[in-house]
Amino acid sequence: MSARIINGKEISDTIRREIREEVERLSGRGIRPGLVVILVGEDPASQVYVRNKAKACEDLGYHSEVVRLPADTTQDELLHLIAKYNEDPKINGILVQLPLPKHIAEKPVIDAISVDKDVDGFHPISVGNLMIGDDSLLPCTPAGVIELLKRTGNSPAGKHAVVVGRSNIVGKPVSMLLLRENATVTVCHSRTPDLPAVARQADILIVAVGVPKLVKRDWVKPGAVVIDVGINRLEDGKLAGDVDYEDVLETAGWITPVPGGVGPMTITMLMANTLKSCKRANGID
Ligand code: NDP
Repeated sequence: MSARIINGKEISDTIRREIREEVERLSGRGIRPGLVVILVGEDPASQVYVRNKAKACEDLGYHSEVVRLPADTTQDELLHLIAKYNEDPKINGILVQLPLPKHIAEKPVIDAISVDKDVDGFHPISVGNLMIGDDSLLPCTPAGVIELLKRTGNSPAGKHAVVVGRSNIVGKPVSMLLLRENATVTVCHSRTPDLPAVARQADILIVAVGVPKLVKRDWVKPGAVVIDVGINRLEDGKLAGDVDYEDVLETAGWITPVPGGVGPMTITMLMANTLKSCKRANGID
């Protein structure tokens, strides 16, 4: 039997409807969530991401600001701008689009963002809060993965989740979130021996590697839930995930397509984080 498709676009649309309803309720009290996206330089992929984030804000009725800075902006200039937005009451979320030009170090920039406005969830205090299980703004892609699982009735509780990839933005945080959701979690990476055998133990297999079509049918336990975080541009211009979708389709129980799986969830979770930060700033639970 063919796997059931996890439709990230549909789930993302549902969450956006929920957010919109809440934004309307807040607007009756004169409250409006606000997000600023700061882009340094002209990276074409980043330009697209920034446009999409601004559009999502517009669709949801958020206050939105986009700051486009030239590639030769200094680190100090960027830090000053962040300091200004940290104090701006109209702004609940500050997102600095990565990657930054080489002459700007990422860490001091991420550290400079107020934890309360850290809607990317990359600040060390947000990461620490995630680790110890305190309330925090969660990194968007990992939070999106958990939403996909829960909203398709695939609760991680009691399941064996195998995560392939250990990056700070996907692999590690998604592992912590799965643990928080009471899964038993195995984290794999480029030095894991016999990866297919480890992956085959998974009830839930999360792949965030960046190698197109790495995961084949013999990596997947029959009936397993397969979440493909990978987004890879092939030579023919098409997008492919880290999972060989066609090959795995008959073996998996559930699977996310690429595009249309995890991808649409990331910006939606950014919007959810901005709303959460806005409610907190206004003393609303
Ligand atoms: P990174 O390059 O930061 O990390 C990749 C991880 O995969 C590393 O831990 C690396 O291991 C591991 N890895 C690499 N090759 C192999 C291999 N052959 N076997 C096993 N493990 C391997 O990538 P990201 O986490 O940032 O991104 C992963 C993918 O997800 C990319 O395709 C990216 O485009 C996509 N992505 C999608 C998002 C979305 O919105 N859907 C958001 C973010 C990322 P090691 O640590 O040992 O080097």
